[in-house]
Amino acid sequence: MSQKESIPTSAQLVVVGAGPGGYAAAFKAVELGLDVTLIDPEAKPGGVCLHRGCIPSKALLHVAKLVAEAEESTAIGVTFSKPKIDLQRVREWKDEVIGKLTGGLGSKVDKQKITYVQGMATFKDADTLEIKHVDGKSGEMTFEKAIIATGSRPIMLPDIEADSPKVIDSSGALELDDVPTSLLVVGGGYIGLELGSVYAALGSKVSVVEMTDGLLPGCDRDLVSVLKRRLAKKFESIMLNTRVTDVKVQKNGVMVTLEGNKDESFKKLFSKVLVAVGRKPNTESLGLENTGVKLDEKGFVEVNGQMRTAETNIYAIGDIAGEPMLAHKAYGEANVAAEAVAGRKAVFDPRAIPAVVFTDPEIAWCGLTETDAREKKIKVKTAKLPWRGNGRTLTLGRDDGMTKLIVDEETDRVLGVAIAGPGAGELIAEGVLALEMAAVSEDLRKSIHPHPTLSETIYDAAESLFKA
Ligand code: NAD
Repeated sequence: MSQKESIPTSAQLVVVGAGPGGYAAAFKAVELGLDVTLIDPEAKPGGVCLHRGCIPSKALLHVAKLVAEAEESTAIGVTFSKPKIDLQRVREWKDEVIGKLTGGLGSKVDKQKITYVQGMATFKDADTLEIKHVDGKSGEMTFEKAIIATGSRPIMLPDIEADSPKVIDSSGALELDDVPTSLLVVGGGYIGLELGSVYAALGSKVSVVEMTDGLLPGCDRDLVSVLKRRLAKKFESIMLNTRVTDVKVQKNGVMVTLEGNKDESFKKLFSKVLVAVGRKPNTESLGLENTGVKLDEKGFVEVNGQMRTAETNIYAIGDIAGEPMLAHKAYGEANVAAEAVAGRKAVFDPRAIPAVVFTDPEIAWCGLTETDAREKKIKVKTAKLPWRGNGRTLTLGRDDGMTKLIVDEETDRVLGVAIAGPGAGELIAEGVLALEMAAVSEDLRKSIHPHPTLSETIYDAAESLFKA
C-alpha cells in the first residue's frame, strides 16, 4: 500500500484513526465524492479490531474450538490423539489472517485514492492538525471537516503497578508469546472469557476473578448459566465477588492477593496475569482542549445523531463516541458521519446493536434484555426455548443452548432476542432484523426457517408464545 511520505498541507476531510470506524468512514466519504486523508500510526488500516482485537482473538478461538471438538468427539465414536500445539505456526496463521485483511484494506485505500499518512495527529485548533509522521517528520495540516475515530485502549488495574511481561492486557495475550502453566484472568467480561477460553484450550490452567456477583454483567443470567456450566469444566476456578488487591511480580510468577466480599483475603501464585477489566476511550492527548469538542465524565466525546461534536466541523465515531464499544456500532456510525459530512440527511438511530461473546457456547443478544424489562417495569412476555429438543443441536453432539424472545405483552412486538449456543453470533442477526423491521412474534412464526438448523429455535420460541 502506498503512503504519503510528506505531510499534506490541507484536506477536505481528514479521518483520524483507521480502525473499523475510521476506515469505514473514509471509504464511504470517498464514495460520496469527498477528498479524504486518513491518518493512523499503523502501516496498514485495521485498528485494534484487526491488529490486536476482534480478528486475532477469533482466529485463536477457532483453534480452541478445534481442540475442544477433537477432545469431545470420543463421545460420538471418533477418537483423536491428544492435539499437539505448534505455537509458532498458530501465531503465524493468526498473523496471516491479520495480514490478509489489513492488506485488503490497504489495497482499497489505494484504489479509492485516499491519502494515507502513517503518524499521530493532534488538534492545534478546530481547523488545524499537527501530525507527527512515524519517520520523525512533523507538520501541520488544515482541514475543512474531521472525523475522529481513535478507538479505545485497555484499562489496567487501578493502584497496582505491574510493569512486567508476566502481567498482560488483551494485546499482550494475543501476541501468544507462550502458554503459561497457570493464568489468572482479572475480569469476567467479554475479553476475559474469550481469551481465557483460548488459553485454557492451549493448555493453561485458567482461573477467572470477577468483582461482581456474576460473569458478563449486563447479560441475562439464564444465558450466562448456559456458558458458566461449560466454562466451569474448562477453567480451574471462577471466583465471583472477588477482587485483586495486590500483584507482586516474582521470579517464579506473579503473587496475587485476592479479596472476597467478606473481606477475607488470600494469596495465590500464577505464571501470568491477564487484566481484562474494561477499556477506555482514546480521547486524551488529542488536543481536543484546543477545540470546542466536549467530553462527558467518562471521557467519551459528546455527539448528536449525526455524530457531530460540539465543534460543528468535527465528528466523532466508534469507541470514543460512547458505549457499547463494538466495531459494528462504529461501522454504523461511520456511514452516518460520512453522509452528514457530505451534506446528506442521516441519523444514527438503530433499534438494536447486537452484542456477541465468542466463547463456547457463544452468547448473543440484542434489544431489550429480560433484566432491563424487569428493572424498567416494561410489561413483556418471554419465550425460552432450551436447545436440547432441536435436531441440529443434537447432530452437532451438543445438548446445551437456549433461545429467548422478549415481546411486548400487549402488542406482541419483538423487543429483545437472546441466544446462548454454538453459532449464536450468527443467529442473532435474525433478531436484529426483527427489531429493526418492528416484527411481531407472529412474523417470526410465519417465516419458514430451514430444517434442520439452529435457526429453528427462533421459530420454535415464537411458536411457543402462541401455545401459551
Ligand atoms: P468488560 O466491561 O466486558 O468486562 C470487564 C469485567 O471486569 C467486568 O465484568 C467487571 O465487573 C470486571 N472488573 C472490573 N474491575 C475489576 C477488578 N478490579 N477485579 C475483578 N474484576 C473486575 O470489559 P472487557 O472484557 O475488558 O472488554 C472491553 C470492551 O471491549 C467490552 O465492553 C466490549 O465493548 C469490547 N469487546 C467486545 C468483544 C466482542 O464483541 N466479542 C470482545 C472483546 C471486547
